[in-house]
Amino acid sequence: MNDSVLLWFKNDLRLSDNESLQKAIASGKPILPVFCFDKQLYNELDLGFRKADFNRFLFTIQCLQDIRKQLIALGGNLKIVVGIPEIEIAKLVEEYQCSTLFGEQEYAPEELGMLNRLQKSIPKSCRCELTWGKTLYHIDDIPYTIEEIPLTSKAYRINTTKTTEVRKIFGRPEKVNFIKLEDWGEFPEASEFGFKEEILDKKKPYVTGGETNALMRLREYSFETEQLTSYRWTRNRSLGMEYSSKFSAYMALGCISPRTIYWEVKRYEQEIKKNASTWWLIFEIVWRDYFTFKLMRFPNAVFHTEGIKDKTLEFENDTELFKRWCEGKTGIPFVDAHMRQLNQTGYMSNRGRVNCASFLIHDYKIDWTWGASYFEAMLLDYDVSSNWLNWHYQAFESYYTNPVHQSLKYKASEYIKKYLPELSNVDDALIHAPWLLPEAELEALGYPKPQTVFKKWQRSIKAIQKKSQPKLDL
Ligand SMILES: Cc1cc2nc3c(=O)[nH]c(=O)nc-3n(C[C@H](O)[C@H](O)[C@H](O)COP(=O)(O)OP(=O)(O)OC[C@H]3O[C@@H](n4cnc5c(N)ncnc54)[C@H](O)[C@@H]3O)c2cc1C
Repeated sequence: MNDSVLLWFKNDLRLSDNESLQKAIASGKPILPVFCFDKQLYNELDLGFRKADFNRFLFTIQCLQDIRKQLIALGGNLKIVVGIPEIEIAKLVEEYQCSTLFGEQEYAPEELGMLNRLQKSIPKSCRCELTWGKTLYHIDDIPYTIEEIPLTSKAYRINTTKTTEVRKIFGRPEKVNFIKLEDWGEFPEASEFGFKEEILDKKKPYVTGGETNALMRLREYSFETEQLTSYRWTRNRSLGMEYSSKFSAYMALGCISPRTIYWEVKRYEQEIKKNASTWWLIFEIVWRDYFTFKLMRFPNAVFHTEGIKDKTLEFENDTELFKRWCEGKTGIPFVDAHMRQLNQTGYMSNRGRVNCASFLIHDYKIDWTWGASYFEAMLLDYDVSSNWLNWHYQAFESYYTNPVHQSLKYKASEYIKKYLPELSNVDDALIHAPWLLPEAELEALGYPKPQTVFKKWQRSIKAIQKKSQPKLDL
């Protein structure tokens, strides 16, 4: 028979600029579009949390609801299955006697292992056609083989942006020939993965998933509000939707492609304004590409405590301190506000991520891979290479970041009050270092004292004391 093809949606949950979808349509055969909830994703790790937490589960459901709605409008649907992907997909290939399996190519070891197992278990009569789709620059177009990817992003960026064109995007399909199916499957309930009712109302993803929302966000951040024009100068802030694009979660699940963003920014440069901000946004997306290719060059070492240079860092790995950090109870408001925002919304600004990572590694002296695993669980925008290589960068390449100084520098008092309501009546200077309050007062607020107040923070602490002198009664 072999008269249908299977289109496996993974982290490419969109209809626009989706090359796998285009190839499936071009095959001329009826398409079975499928998404498999990988139940292993929600397993608990030895560190005491899941591999992926509730916010990411919810965001994924929202993305799927959107794509399903779009496929229904085209006369089809999206088949939903739950289980171990390589097993479930292989079953469907067999059941519907698919001649081809279309999907996005993977790049990280776990996902490549899964594809490998799948390819071994599907019938020989089914061809696997995997398409590269993750990056702005196509893997076949960059001026390097994976073995040659430079060790610095600058070398990669300069050479690549000078010599490589960004490909044009694929349009949205207007007609799709779907397989006929009675039962397309239901979305799983959170309880199926053991998420307990009582935690659910404490969680609220900071953006709503789906291609429709991703495209709306792109329009809003660019042509509608022109916030893009000031990105270069606002991107380091922490509070609100305006200061940075918030494209990351949409890109992580593939609700929008980096190419779509790129070409829209180019249009914006032509029609509205070309400046350092428009350049910088693309620069950041090129970082994302670079980390993808770098992970492919060092597919295993990137996940190891010793990193790609096999270097030993001294860690103490105090599990109680790690717990405090995860819960946002270190007593350092700039760190705690960011960690609580992460736990609640699945998002944290880049400034926050840098500070929380630096604090965990250099002040708490905890293995950076523990922190990377926690971010993996909590981030809506979790992306294997962006997460693990940013953590790796904080552990091995970047300078120490002083969270008290940064809190002052980025005038974080309003932000801290939002996520640490117990500090909402503390004055704008002391809120950066509430341990300076009289002990009984701090205790009454129910906010913890830091484990250690480091000497290296002294200059910032003096500045806070100076600003708040009358209140401290010095
Ligand atoms: C410790 C740590 C862990 C991180 N983990 C992730 C992760 O799992 N997923 C993720 O997408 N980003 C990660 N980042 C990068 C960055 O913090 C987020 O991409 C950014 O904060 C998302 O918000 P935005 O979309 O508003 O970013 P914007 O500032 O608007 O940037 C636009 C886009 O550029 C890309 N980008 C920006 N900064 C980086 C960067 N440093 N590295 C790679 N890509 C970047 C993202 O795709 C982002 O959406 C991490 C950074 C650190 C320091």
